Amino acid sequence: MGRRDVSVIGLGPMGRAMARAFLGRGHRVTVWNRSTGSADELAAEGARRAATARDAVAASELIVLSLTDQHAMYAVLGPATDELSGRVLVNLGSQTPQSARDASRWASGHGAAYLTGGVLASPPGIGQPGFSTFYSGPKDVFDTHRETLEVLTGTDFRGEDPGLAALYYQAGMDLFWTTVLGWLHALAMADAQGVGAEELLPSMSSVLSGMPDFLAHYTPRIAAGEHPGDIDRLAMGAASAEHVLRTAQDTGVDPSLPNAVLEIFRRGTAAGHADDSVTSLIEVLKAPTG
Ligand code: NDP
Repeated sequence: MGRRDVSVIGLGPMGRAMARAFLGRGHRVTVWNRSTGSADELAAEGARRAATARDAVAASELIVLSLTDQHAMYAVLGPATDELSGRVLVNLGSQTPQSARDASRWASGHGAAYLTGGVLASPPGIGQPGFSTFYSGPKDVFDTHRETLEVLTGTDFRGEDPGLAALYYQAGMDLFWTTVLGWLHALAMADAQGVGAEELLPSMSSVLSGMPDFLAHYTPRIAAGEHPGDIDRLAMGAASAEHVLRTAQDTGVDPSLPNAVLEIFRRGTAAGHADDSVTSLIEVLKAPTG
C-alpha cells in the first residue's frame, strides 16, 4: 500500500508529534491549527499548511484530530461539514464514550466515517516502539487505515462501538489520576513530617510494583461476583483508611482525598460487607445510592 495523504488538525504537543511522525515516514501531511505558530513550524519541516480547517479536511481522505475536547472538534469541523462526505475522521483527543458515540452519529450524518482513538503515549512516545492506542469504530475503515495509524503507535482495536476505545482510555485515566493524586497526597503527608519525595520513592515504587499481582489475584473473584474475606476484610481496610485520614489531619495536610476514601469504606460496612474483601466496595460503587 502506498503512503496515504493525511491531514492533522490540532497542533498542540500531541498533534505536532503526530504530524512529525507522518512526515518522517514519507506521508504527505497537511496541517491546520487555530493559532498559527505551530503550523508554520511544521510547514518549515515539509508539511502543507492549510489556510482553514475546511481546506485541511478537503486535502486528505484521512483526517487525524488532536484537539483538547469534543467542543473543539465541533468548533473546528462545524464550518467544514460540506467537505466531510467520504472522509475518515480519526479522533485521537480525549473523549467520553457517550461523546464518541454522539460524534460518530454526527459524522455519519455528514457522510464521514469516525474512528475513536485513545492514545497511551505522551508526545515523545509518538512514532517510537512500545506504545499503543485503543481504537473503535467501523472495522473495515480501521483495517483500511491501520498501517497509516501504526506510524503513530501500535494499535489495539476494541470493537465497532465507537464508545469502546474511549471507555478503555477513560478507565485507564481513572486509575492513573487517582494513583497520581494518592501519590502526591502521600508525599505531602511525608513532607509535613520532614521526609522528602526522594526518600519516599523506593517505598512508593514498591507499593505500585505489587499492584499487578494484586489485580491478577482479585480480578477473577470480581468477575465471578465473589468477595470472600479470606485474605483481607473490609473492616480491616476501613480501620487502615481511617489511620491514613488521621495522619493527614495530624500533619495539617488536605484531608479531602482520604475522607472520600474512608466514606466509601463506611458505606461498604453499612451495606453489610465488613467481613468481605475490600473488593466488595465495587458493589457500593456500582450502586452509589444503594
Ligand atoms: P493541547 O490542549 O495542548 O492542544 C490541543 C489542540 O486543541 C491545540 O491545537 C488547540 O489549539 C486546540 N484547541 C483547543 N480548543 C480549541 C477550540 N475551541 N477551537 C480550535 N482549536 C482548539 O493538547 P495536547 O496536544 O497535549 O493533546 C491533544 C489531545 O490528545 C488531548 O485531547 C489530550 O487529552 C490527548 N492526549 C494527550 C496526551 C499528552 O501527553 N499530551 C497523552 C494522550 C492523549 P491552539 O493551539 O490554538 O490553542
